[in-house]
Amino acid sequence: MTLRPDIGKSHFGPFGARTLLVVVVLAALAIIAGSTVVSQVTDQMRREADARQDRRAEDVATTLAGIVGSASSDIRLARRNEVFETALVDTPGQLLAEDRQRVESAITYLGDRYKVDEICFIRSSGLELARWVGGKGIAPVEDLSLDERQNNPTVLPTLPLADDAFYESSPYVSPDSGRWVIGIATPVVLASGDHAGILHFEIPVAGLAEAVTSAAYGATGFNVLLDRGGRVLVHPHLAEFRTAAGTVADPATGPFPLAVAAGSTSWRDAATVMLAGQAGSTTFNQDGVTYRLSYRPVANSDRVVGVASPLGELYADVDRLLLNLAITVGPLLLLMIILTIGFARSSSRASRGLAALNERLMGTNARLEESSRSNAELAGESKIINQFTELTALTEDDVSLSVATLATMDELLHPNAAALHVSNRSQDRAVPQATLGERATDVLSLHELERCPALRRSSLYITNDVAARLSFRCPVYPVESGTLACVPLVALGEVVGAIHLHWDEPRELSLPLRLAITRVSEHAALSIANRRLLLALRGQANTDGRTGLTNSRAFDELLERRLADRGDSERLAVLMLDLDRFKDFNDRYGHPAGDEALRTFAHILSSSVRDNDVAARYGGEEFALYLPGLDANGAREVAERIRERTEATIIPLGPGSTGRITVSIGIAAAPNDGIERMALLKAADEALYRAKQAGRNRVVVQRGWVTDAQTTEPVADPEPRAASA
Ligand code: GH3
Ligand code: MG
Ligand code: MG
Repeated sequence: MTLRPDIGKSHFGPFGARTLLVVVVLAALAIIAGSTVVSQVTDQMRREADARQDRRAEDVATTLAGIVGSASSDIRLARRNEVFETALVDTPGQLLAEDRQRVESAITYLGDRYKVDEICFIRSSGLELARWVGGKGIAPVEDLSLDERQNNPTVLPTLPLADDAFYESSPYVSPDSGRWVIGIATPVVLASGDHAGILHFEIPVAGLAEAVTSAAYGATGFNVLLDRGGRVLVHPHLAEFRTAAGTVADPATGPFPLAVAAGSTSWRDAATVMLAGQAGSTTFNQDGVTYRLSYRPVANSDRVVGVASPLGELYADVDRLLLNLAITVGPLLLLMIILTIGFARSSSRASRGLAALNERLMGTNARLEESSRSNAELAGESKIINQFTELTALTEDDVSLSVATLATMDELLHPNAAALHVSNRSQDRAVPQATLGERATDVLSLHELERCPALRRSSLYITNDVAARLSFRCPVYPVESGTLACVPLVALGEVVGAIHLHWDEPRELSLPLRLAITRVSEHAALSIANRRLLLALRGQANTDGRTGLTNSRAFDELLERRLADRGDSERLAVLMLDLDRFKDFNDRYGHPAGDEALRTFAHILSSSVRDNDVAARYGGEEFALYLPGLDANGAREVAERIRERTEATIIPLGPGSTGRITVSIGIAAAPNDGIERMALLKAADEALYRAKQAGRNRVVVQRGWVTDAQTTEPVADPEPRAASA
């Protein structure tokens, strides 16, 4: 099993990054949409404000045109008045008295009605016929000018004007009123077609200025009036312009200065644009305030009016709207930003969490891999151990079991050397039944084996680095370096042997490996012990109860088997042994003493032969011995040793009483005396018979053999006697 380790690999997990992106995009879209709407609305509001200002400029221009235009057109209509016709026709010089009265009434009416500064009636010759001045009324005849052309140069160009012509002068200071005026003249043509004179009147600039100024737009906006010559006629800071232009600063008499004489650069640019003659708008900055300037030419005049409004006032609604939006939408936007940031941070935290989780998963994966690897190893080990346990069921003896055990250890642990000692049945020696590697191993006394630390504490003992100063050195398996594992073979509370494993280099043995060693060794020990138990059980059937030796049936079977398995050149000897005059011994000492003598002899017999030799009680006081690997001579040495020990052994028969026995021995050997059991036993029997015949207490080799000493010198028949203390 592998947990997916790739989730949350990026710092932002796929979930966090995608959601965050969506949130950010949505927020951006909302902001774009909102600001687009706001900008469209505010643009519209600005356009509307602009339009209002433009309309105002239009109105002012119309008003101004009206002030001049309506007065002049009415006055022009009035020039056709029959009063003037009659008066002019009556005389070419000064007016007749009745004409004068009517003319003076007419111009008084016109002057009052149109609020002009001055109105006068002049003949083409320049003779002033009548004059009305605002605030003063009709001038006395004696004040009238004989040649107004001298008096007022603005009148000059008006005298030859054709009918319907209309003259409007630049502002000038009226010689009559002393104020800034605009002179307007229109010819008076008689019905006859004669050019009789002009009606001349002066419109006060102050009147225009009042009209212009009073139409100012907003609290701090102002209106301006320029003439086509670029002069400022009306401006709230007209005096400053005059000062800047270096002219007379007196508003009553000072000339009108150029619009570009003062003000900021952008104002001068704006004034230039105004004078181009078209209606339009522009902006300029003055004293840190930005103005929108809407300008319009004044109809039928050479003047242009401008309405200047600070943007702050002009677009106050827009600013209010934006402020309201800022107050209402701003917190929402801020909240959204905070939420987005919060989300991003929590997403980042989540991602970090994911990353941490991922790391933990990777760690878990590593552990899982580790454990699956060790599981695989354990599975492999289990398989090997199972094979071993199956194999042990089939092994017949300690050697093959030991070989299987070390082979299993080799598979599991690959030691450089190993030895498996098994204690013998008499529990006095430990014999190496199998080894691995080059290291020599000895037969040990069981006492030596039990000095091994593993056997002392009956559990596995591992010295990771034998060379280390504080390491224990096993006296059984004396290595000087590397790692040593001492494994006891203990079963049913009994030591049956030990395994020693050695690695040339120090190494760590993992817990699973230690468990595997223990499992294998326990199984091996149990297997050895079981086999011994089985043999013991079987042995009861095959053993002579009195002496503990193999009985004759078992001996026959065993001999039969060994002869069948015998190789061609393999030698073996069979001995038949019979106690001498044992009937007499019984008779003399009693049957129980006879039994004791039999047991004593059995012990002499079994302790005089090797482990692989087999001693048997073959009949009442008859014994048989199977000696593999020995020829007749070798067997005779063994037999002679037995005979001597028997003869020399004093048998304790009770308090103060001992007995002695002797034995006669007949020897047969394969293949010389036969290779079958019956033949060999018969041959040995015959040799025994001859030993008896020869006087007993001697060894006789079967007659087929020719040796230098076929018989041992007979000794005197031992007289059965009781040794007395
Ligand atoms: P020889 O030297 O010719 O062998 O003389 P022997 O007396 O030993 O021979 P024999 O065959 O005449 O006698 C065998 C004796 O062994 C007879 C019997 O009482 C004795 N015997 C056989 N089995 C036992 C036994 O289990 N216990 C005792 N105490 N005696 C036994
Ligand atoms: Mg006998
Ligand atoms: Mg006998």
